[in-house]
Amino acid sequence: MQIAVPAESAAGDTRVAAPPETIKKASLIGVPKETAPGEKRVATVPEVVEKLVKLGFSVAVESSAGDASNFSDETYRAAGAEVVPTAAELWARSDIVFKVRAPSPDEVALMREGGSLIGFIWPAQNPELMQQLAGKKATVLAIDSLPRQLSRAQKMDALTSMAGVSGYRAVIEAANAFGRFFNGQVTAAGKIPPAKVFIAGAGVAGLAAIGTAANLGAIVRANDTRAEVADQVVSLGGEFVKVDYEEEGSGGGGYAKVMSEGFQKAQREMYAKQAREVDIIITTALIPGKPAPKLITADMVKSMKPGSVIVDMAAEQGGNCELTEPGQAVVKHGVTIVGYTDLASRLAKQSSTLYSNNLLRLTEELCKTKDGVIDVNMDDDAIRGLTVIKEGGITWPPPPPKIP
Ligand code: NAD
Repeated sequence: MQIAVPAESAAGDTRVAAPPETIKKASLIGVPKETAPGEKRVATVPEVVEKLVKLGFSVAVESSAGDASNFSDETYRAAGAEVVPTAAELWARSDIVFKVRAPSPDEVALMREGGSLIGFIWPAQNPELMQQLAGKKATVLAIDSLPRQLSRAQKMDALTSMAGVSGYRAVIEAANAFGRFFNGQVTAAGKIPPAKVFIAGAGVAGLAAIGTAANLGAIVRANDTRAEVADQVVSLGGEFVKVDYEEEGSGGGGYAKVMSEGFQKAQREMYAKQAREVDIIITTALIPGKPAPKLITADMVKSMKPGSVIVDMAAEQGGNCELTEPGQAVVKHGVTIVGYTDLASRLAKQSSTLYSNNLLRLTEELCKTKDGVIDVNMDDDAIRGLTVIKEGGITWPPPPPKIP
């Protein structure tokens, strides 16, 4: 829609008419039902719908999109969303689609040409998806590509919020598979010792697991190659167990580096000792872009007490334990090994709420004018970092952000 420019008032008027000004229409944000098998999360919860409407957007939600995370169509309607019956209609009408998982080829086929998409994309792992989206002349903001080192980006950091939920859930899965209390108790029926939990890797998920296991009353120990996390481990109620080998594990940007052979040997010896002593091991060790380090060998599993539990959070990246089967819970040598790769989805209401808050914060950054129109400002480091396709042109990988 355009504003008409008044015709020249009189013949011979030499004033130059102002260029036609475009009034941009407020966008419709669409939230489809997730289609990946077993995925229970939804990208926007009703509470966030209300806030998006206040930012000037209209919101449409596919019918039953929130069912698996306990948000009914009715609650979406009450929050101001339109509920549409089919995915085809939702994708065709939406100017901006909010998703959790990267879209399938069938979903991209439904997308309107020139539309926008915000969600997990993983551009390095999904080159074909990137091409397909570029073919749609889409603008795509990959929440996984957010420059997490920018402090301003923290409020939008869905990787962190999902890892936090997953670390919590890993402890709940461990408690469910473990045949005893976590806390020590003195009862008339006997004295019960507290469970001992060892956490390998104290990043976001590991720290959440430490706090949760300590709150349940277990004795918690943890190790990480980055010595800088020791204080955080202690502040959450854990004990930091050092590897008896002098080597710093920080590889920059808050991530670990691959350690030397000498360190790895000393670390294996320490982990073997922990495996013999503890009841539960939760592994979260990861260096981005590398296969998960194998920290728990088959022999260590064999040495654990019968009824012990391992939750291997790195299952999707090949696992920190040699005997993990991704997506499964298996019993080997009397030890339950949980390799679920959908821990956040197993706490769908909580993770959907946190995820949609992250997307809301991002939307606020994109729509400072509060008129339902987004501005993908490529001069903004945070926005530049996560914009992987702009109007059909692939803009990933971005240049490194300028950290103030
Ligand atoms: P993160 O990068 O914050 O933490 C990983 C930690 O591992 C870092 O602190 C790093 O220093 C440490 N580390 C690396 N190599 C190590 C080694 N050899 N020994 C000891 N520590 C080492 O990552 P995060 O967000 O906490 O995620 C942790 C893992 O959990 C990742 O594999 C992630 O993909 C996975 N995850 C799984 C699920 C699931 O559903 N299973 C959900 C979320 C995250």
